[in-house]
Amino acid sequence: MTIESSAFEALGLPPAVLRALADKNYTTPTPIQQQAIPLVLSGRDVLGGAQTGTGKTAAFSLPLLARLSKATPPNGPRRPRALILVPTRELAVQVNESIRNYGRHLRLTTGMIFGGVGMGPQMDLLRRGVDILVATPGRLIDHLERGTAKLDAIEILVLDEADRMLDMGFLAAIKRIVQQVPKQRQTLLFSATFESRVRGLAMEFLRNPAEVEVAARNTIASTIQHIAHPVDNSRKRDLLTHLLATRFQDRVLVFGKTKHGCNRLAEQLEESGIKAVAIHGNKSQAQRQKALDAFKAGRARVLVATDVAARGLDIPALPLVINYDLPLVAEDYVHRIGRTGRNGATGEAISLVAIDEGGLLSQVQKLLGQNVRQVLVEGFAPSQPLRMDAKPVQSKRQARPSARPHGKPAVRHAHAQAPKGRSGAGAQRSRMAR
Ligand code: AMP
Repeated sequence: MTIESSAFEALGLPPAVLRALADKNYTTPTPIQQQAIPLVLSGRDVLGGAQTGTGKTAAFSLPLLARLSKATPPNGPRRPRALILVPTRELAVQVNESIRNYGRHLRLTTGMIFGGVGMGPQMDLLRRGVDILVATPGRLIDHLERGTAKLDAIEILVLDEADRMLDMGFLAAIKRIVQQVPKQRQTLLFSATFESRVRGLAMEFLRNPAEVEVAARNTIASTIQHIAHPVDNSRKRDLLTHLLATRFQDRVLVFGKTKHGCNRLAEQLEESGIKAVAIHGNKSQAQRQKALDAFKAGRARVLVATDVAARGLDIPALPLVINYDLPLVAEDYVHRIGRTGRNGATGEAISLVAIDEGGLLSQVQKLLGQNVRQVLVEGFAPSQPLRMDAKPVQSKRQARPSARPHGKPAVRHAHAQAPKGRSGAGAQRSRMAR
């Protein structure tokens, strides 16, 4: 065994998994991996508090692969032995890809199903059989109703980004799914927060779980600088262009409130000569992936995203996140900013704050437990000072709950752009053994 993989070896992972980690040049487990891997390997249920960027995917995938590869698969046709429920298509793609990578020296197969694409290929996938199934709840329910998916051989159930699945109204769907999974199983639940709804879910589905948490609730890296630029709403776009032209050379992730707004902003940036792509719930899976790939490869400098679309995006070492609009729910600020300042790197979070967004800014400050420094940009000072007690303004469109065929309407309104669970399906099956 190479020296590099020894820190992972000490956690008890088998040689085939260690080889895959060495292939990826991972030398040191992240804190969540350090804590969670031995627990999962021992067969315990785990409640994990970790955001995207902490290495949580490997924290559950590595021991999951280790356990599945050790146990003898049941006789008969191949049926899923591990089920990973995720809130969005993007996360499904990422988790599936990670598992495929980490399991490349094992004889296990992984596949994913999610809404937004046709059912046919997914039915084929399920008919051929996979060992590990990554799925969004809505589409999995569709398959369960049609009898195309069978969950009676599940040994390990993972609920990834459970808080987000609840935000998106998937509670009822999750309950229906878990009913079809054997009671005798190992259950892992990961969530950025341990709010009471998440605890409720854990109490219902986990047995005597070990609890691991890498960042205190709602905290973000202390290496991140938070800055607010007060500005009139009508001048936000000019200010953004100005900042991108004068201050920043790097790639930037920009968050907007609405799908339409994100699209328009990306177009307008393009018109100003700044390569930009948008990603949101109205775009097809292929379009989103294309935009994300363009951003990752550096062909687009700016990625404009809504909260829901950006959830779980795996963008390494991003030095800057700009909030073109502040989120209506302060917790989303934490999710957004979770994409910068990872692993001790410094990061900057800049918010363009209109007068009537002062109230949102004070909510963010409360959550952060610190004041966000307000900096006026020359030539862009607003016509009035920020109103820090302003009530968040919502358009009717944002306040309208999205169609939630499988769950109760979301209590919070900030996620009205949530992709609908039922609206389509994508399939991909990958053989991990080469
Ligand atoms: P996640 O929090 O699962 O989205 O992972 C964030 C990023 O960290 C992904 O790009 C992983 O490939 C990467 N990563 C996970 N674990 C490690 C590790 N131990 N060493 C280096 N990179 C890692």
